[in-house]
Amino acid sequence: MVKYDALIVGAGLSGTTAARVLAENGSRVLLLEKRTHIGGNAYDCLNNYGILIQKYGPHIFHTNSKRVYDFLSRFTQWRNYEHRVAAMVDEMYIPVPFNFTSLFMTFGKEDGAKIAQKLTTAYPGRESVTVFELLAHQESDIRKIAEYVYKTIFEKYTRKQWGKYSEDVLSVTARVPVVLSHDDRYFHDRYQGIPLYGFTNMIGNMLEHENIDVSLGHTATADIVLNFSGTVIYTGALDELFNFEFGALPYRTLDFEFETLPVSQFQPYATVNYTQSEDFTRITEFRHLTGQSAEITTILKEYPRDAKKGDIPCYSVNNAAIDALYGKYLAAAQKFPNLHLLGRLAEYKYYNMDAVCERALLLGGRLIGVKD
Ligand code: UDP
Repeated sequence: MVKYDALIVGAGLSGTTAARVLAENGSRVLLLEKRTHIGGNAYDCLNNYGILIQKYGPHIFHTNSKRVYDFLSRFTQWRNYEHRVAAMVDEMYIPVPFNFTSLFMTFGKEDGAKIAQKLTTAYPGRESVTVFELLAHQESDIRKIAEYVYKTIFEKYTRKQWGKYSEDVLSVTARVPVVLSHDDRYFHDRYQGIPLYGFTNMIGNMLEHENIDVSLGHTATADIVLNFSGTVIYTGALDELFNFEFGALPYRTLDFEFETLPVSQFQPYATVNYTQSEDFTRITEFRHLTGQSAEITTILKEYPRDAKKGDIPCYSVNNAAIDALYGKYLAAAQKFPNLHLLGRLAEYKYYNMDAVCERALLLGGRLIGVKD
């Protein structure tokens, strides 16, 4: 340990980005990862059938940050890819985010066009609105559409995804707005894509640096993390680091069910959300993301549930009481001035990949003395 200037815990996108920034500035970095692979939940690999899958659920890179895009582009080429999603509603594939195409499919061309006109007039200059804005609109016609969209697209899916926390986290549904045009892309960011050879390859390239040593299958105990004298960047769960001293922070986890089928394509969309039926939330078919074509195809069903100790924490559950509990861990962490918290788990926030990378660039920059 003596030979390292920095200890980084977690080889997901946040830890590897920070490791790279520090290493390029001449710091000798030790990166500890408790799993036996790098990449965190963005890890992808070939399955037994030779199909490239994302082991912990669909990850699609999208950002408006040129800085993040340029940084990651040093480590990968991109497959141009724009994610498109449909909800299975009455056995029809309705595009999500709900947009004018979805409107026309649901209400017919004539009524759909009238409603579209109404929405355009109600929200001049807006590209999208949240379903909550629509639900609160003064015109009853608009409220009726909003109620339909809410019931059909959001209500059951959100209950499946968040369980008993659904009411607390309703604001997360704003991640998926109602789009006031026929633009049916899931993300509207300027840069979108999938690393040409996968996320694991991109992250592996980031770690290829003479100043970075990676140790896999290595759990960073409090003893190691809190006693290291140099810079520590911790990207794991904070409650675990402090031995659950104030009680466990809740997380939602996912049970993943992969199926490989003897057809070249299972569904017309990369992801189909089951917003009305089924216990799983969505089915993702990887060939759409990766561009791999074969006579077989692999799909993934996601079943959300509350995480128990030892499960993979996928989503933080943010409400006032839980954030206050997190605040106790944060205060404990702040007693260690060389300990920096980074990423979805350590910061207990619902960050997208680009946000995580951006935060890592900022933190790394600060640590090497670059102004934000
Ligand atoms: N959501 C929904 N229906 C959908 C898609 C999303 O109700 O068809 C809600 C749900 O509460 C979900 C949230 O919007 O947790 C955010 O969705 P997103 O697709 O961004 O989730 P992620 O891909 O991060 O799991």
